[in-house]
Amino acid sequence: MLEGCLLCPRRCGATRTTADPGRCGSEEPLQSGLFRVASLMRHCWEEPCISGSDGSGAVFFSGCALGCCFCQNSSISHARQGITMTESELIEAIFKLHAQGVHNLNLVTASHYADRLPQLISRIKNDMRWQQRPIPIIWNSSGYETRESVIALANHVDVWPPDFKFFDQQLAKALADAPDYFSVASQAILTMHALQPKLILNEDGMVQHGLIIRHLVLPGHWRDSCRLLDYLAEHKLNDVLLSLMCQYTPQPGIGQPSANPELKRRLTTFEYRKVIDYALDLGFTRVLGQNRGSADAAYTPDFSSVWLNPEGRGTPER
Ligand code: SF4
Repeated sequence: MLEGCLLCPRRCGATRTTADPGRCGSEEPLQSGLFRVASLMRHCWEEPCISGSDGSGAVFFSGCALGCCFCQNSSISHARQGITMTESELIEAIFKLHAQGVHNLNLVTASHYADRLPQLISRIKNDMRWQQRPIPIIWNSSGYETRESVIALANHVDVWPPDFKFFDQQLAKALADAPDYFSVASQAILTMHALQPKLILNEDGMVQHGLIIRHLVLPGHWRDSCRLLDYLAEHKLNDVLLSLMCQYTPQPGIGQPSANPELKRRLTTFEYRKVIDYALDLGFTRVLGQNRGSADAAYTPDFSSVWLNPEGRGTPER
């Protein structure tokens, strides 16, 4: 008899089959060794310390345990576009990406496969091809994952760049049907920080270990962004690399019904600047911002290496 899944904070208990898919959409049962993957690609639009000049080796998993209504990748996260792969098939696909010289292996939205990825990662690390050119492993998540999952992944993951999305319970309920988002994600992030307290970059400025906290500022909700920053500052995390994004792009049908009419528009410069200034006022020393044009070109975030600091607000450091 198939076991019901309690892997993520949804704890939906699904058997993850076609007849009983998880809230995340997964139809790959626990311990099946199966994955659904939308794409493997050289990703050139992550933060500069992740994408660098040669790109990040991104594996986009289909489905998502959080499932925000405004997701810019809904064909992957909601519609589960992709193909089902065995562990061995996925490993070979990853090595094709590895052979392209990417800077890291970037596992995108993989929380619903957290039970089987440690074994896959162990097999990769034992492979001669990896040992000849080991690269950091990045766990690129929504932040909505259990502390237990994070701890179970600790020996396998080098870099944690979680999203930190919502402070307010009602907002998280309205936009992701996850009123517990903040309580869950804040604990996950504190755990990640305890595991990797120091951000380590190599001589080329590429991240090797550590925590990068990402936040997408949403139109109409810049005050919620500030509450998240308050929390990080209260927990003395204002020395982490904070990536503040402005790339929000309204998706077709978003903002209907009228509960979130702001989501029908883009973020304004005023709103984005409010959040950046707030971060600087709180003493965040490493804030990475995006050029406002990032929201104009669909899904091509342009960080343009804009590093902000209290001494030179908005002045590129590098
Ligand atoms: S990982 Fe998917 S199937 Fe498992 S508890 Fe979460 S939503 Fe349900």
